[in-house]
Amino acid sequence: KVTRADFQFALEHDIKPAFGISEKELDFYVRNGIIHWSPRIQGILSRGKLAVQQTQESAHNYLISLLIKGAPGSGKTALAVQMAKDSAFPFVKVISPENMIGYHESAKCQMIKKVFEDAYKSPISCIVIDDIESLLDYVSIGPRFSNLVLQALLVLLRKQPPARHRLLILGTTSLSNETLASFGIENAFSSSVTAHSVTEGSEVIEIIKQINLFEKSDLSYLEKELEGKKLRIGIKKLIALSDAACQSKDAVADFVSLLKSEADLKLDLEIQ
Ligand code: ATP
Ligand code: MG
Repeated sequence: KVTRADFQFALEHDIKPAFGISEKELDFYVRNGIIHWSPRIQGILSRGKLAVQQTQESAHNYLISLLIKGAPGSGKTALAVQMAKDSAFPFVKVISPENMIGYHESAKCQMIKKVFEDAYKSPISCIVIDDIESLLDYVSIGPRFSNLVLQALLVLLRKQPPARHRLLILGTTSLSNETLASFGIENAFSSSVTAHSVTEGSEVIEIIKQINLFEKSDLSYLEKELEGKKLRIGIKKLIALSDAACQSKDAVADFVSLLKSEADLKLDLEIQ
């Protein structure tokens, strides 16, 4: 079993500072914190905790991976990075397409490979492979993607770390189950979990309460407008909309009309 003392030892002896966790870098991906707007959020984070525990304690399996699936903006990146932060592993690294803009596929492969090689040097590590479809240059129109990056990922996802080293890989993707299956990605991960969109008016109210951007008096208006209503929106966009609405004089009314146009909010009838 790997303990805190091992981490400390590793930090002091094995790990160069450049490989250490940069909290700041990780916080960038969880800009707006994690709002517990549904019991499902705790459920997803628990799956992360379990994967972390398995990575630390498993007697046989030194390579654990978890794929976080979900619609665009459903909060996948923030959830994966939060799991990685919570692991408190001495090596945590995010492979993000944001850091590889304009890279050719071979350069991308090199960068990805380098992160894994660095991770293998630490006794226990966590790598977040963020936004797998963008890493693959995948676009839904036309069957174009980087097979080079795909093959590199598939190999690294299955490659055991060196003896006595443990690795947790967290992936995020908006790809459909069908596409994931045809790429062989789903199978390459040990397990997967789904991040959901916000679909209930009551969930929106809960989020707005926790963001604490609106006036107290506005909340009762929102409750009246949204309670019992259905919609579909990712947490990422919901936060952006509430932010935008807050700039205006008529914040709540603007917020509700933004929800109508952007989140398929049905005010008159309840649809399933
Ligand atoms: P994309 O499909 O564009 O990659 P995403 O699904 O990765 O989007 P994030 O980039 O993680 O979504 O955006 C989610 C935002 O919402 C973050 O700023 C995060 O801090 C915030 N957030 C608040 N509560 C939650 C939650 N319960 N789960 C996830 N993110 C949350
Ligand atoms: Mg993301």
